[in-house]
Amino acid sequence: MSSAIQSIQDVAERQLCSGCGACAYMQPKAVRMVDDLAQGRRPVVTPGSDTQEALAACPGVELVHTYDKSAVNPELHRGWGPILEIWEGWASEPEVRFESSSGGAATALGLFGIEQDGAGGVLHIAAREDVPTLNVTRLSTSREEVVGAIGSRYAPASPCDSLELAESADAPVVFIGKPCDAAAVSKARALRPALDEKVAVTIAIFCAGAPSTQGTHEMLKVMGFDDPMAVDSVRYRGKGWPGRARGVQADREESLTYHESWGKVLQRFVPWRCRICPDHTGEFADISVGDPWYHGSTPDEEAGRSLVIARTPKGVEFLRRAREAGVLELEPRGADALTLSQPNLLHVRGAVFGRVLTSRLLGAATPRYKGFYVFDAWLKHLSLKQRAQAFYGTVKRVFKKGLRKRMVVKPFEPASRHAGQDQSASEDPSRDRGANSQGSSVA
Ligand SMILES: Cc1cc2nc3c(=O)[nH]c(=O)nc-3n(C[C@H](O)[C@H](O)[C@H](O)COP(=O)(O)OP(=O)(O)OC[C@H]3O[C@@H](n4cnc5c(N)ncnc54)[C@H](O)[C@@H]3O)c2cc1C
Repeated sequence: MSSAIQSIQDVAERQLCSGCGACAYMQPKAVRMVDDLAQGRRPVVTPGSDTQEALAACPGVELVHTYDKSAVNPELHRGWGPILEIWEGWASEPEVRFESSSGGAATALGLFGIEQDGAGGVLHIAAREDVPTLNVTRLSTSREEVVGAIGSRYAPASPCDSLELAESADAPVVFIGKPCDAAAVSKARALRPALDEKVAVTIAIFCAGAPSTQGTHEMLKVMGFDDPMAVDSVRYRGKGWPGRARGVQADREESLTYHESWGKVLQRFVPWRCRICPDHTGEFADISVGDPWYHGSTPDEEAGRSLVIARTPKGVEFLRRAREAGVLELEPRGADALTLSQPNLLHVRGAVFGRVLTSRLLGAATPRYKGFYVFDAWLKHLSLKQRAQAFYGTVKRVFKKGLRKRMVVKPFEPASRHAGQDQSASEDPSRDRGANSQGSSVA
């Protein structure tokens, strides 16, 4: 870990926070998560608190692989982490498949967990009902709630801020989150046996980086909404593959293609920490799901497909049970499926080596990675030109983003759209932590 990092406040202010929220679960009296428009979900530390326990679970400062290399796919683990099986498929229920981000694998597995496998709920995120441009963590225990959180939200979310809901659930839960969220769960479980017992399986969605809330605001402005805070709902994908980003205000609906939303707007708002992340495919999860982009571009209304990776024996078993129960249609895929579907990710892994090294040399705080073979990827997958770009690009960013200075977290706490209607709820501190208080979030 960087010596510049001694506390959770350092993690946030030195721009190493990935926004997962595990610190708030580990030390709820010392840390609370807030929305910072420019940065994302970030921790605010109670003055005078010692945050060492929270720091021990932080994936922002350190990621260490400890899997048994002899037990995983020998061709793939250096570039993609531990892999036992690769599948492609989709949710058997047409509605789940259509509404979802890719093929609905994450939602179908969550539903399988609570309806047929004895899980005590699905811990994941959904759009806030009262402020639809922000997200909240919830433990979904009904079909309506699980399906209500369907779809990728290209925006800050911290599903680990409410891990206590898993800990106190009646039975082990299914966890769904981004790769950094799954990594945080894995760290927190190692520190908290009571949590470890209550996680049935972890599912990570592939993630190239989570744009800040400013990205959502900009996307809604490009759609033509003058006041992004006034929209009634926002979706980023789904209703086809990849589907359109949609904003709705009263009876007005506007949309953008995936290329126009993610490609032209949202990507620009991905924070620095995501750009030095070596794990975009959920290497610490039991199962990870992403887009099999090798199918090329499809008409928006086409039903989607999921690439599904089993990474641990637990993941293999959970997938087998789900397949046998008929909730997922899956076909096995070869070792090349990952490279074909996400060809840029091996370059990114290599570039991470150059970006981390350059920013460290220039005095920025940097994370510690072990077991990602980033130097390997630097040598193998990057041309000389790409290496130079990683170096120059980082020098530019270190100065432009002020990476050598502290950036204080600025809480963005808009009034609830239900203000007045739910006064008592907003006074309930558990609501702030994402207690199970949300209904459907699908637009
Ligand atoms: C920020 C971001 C970046 C992405 N980058 C990539 C990429 O580089 N490559 C790629 O193949 N796919 C990427 N995706 C898309 C996603 O990995 C796939 O769509 C994945 O296959 C999930 O599809 P699904 O149909 O199984 O999920 P669904 O069945 O639609 O379910 C989605 C689940 O993800 C959860 N979720 C949604 N948004 C978030 C979030 N911001 N944080 C935590 N949990 C969330 C929901 O709670 C829900 O349970 C990204 C998604 C996001 C949110």
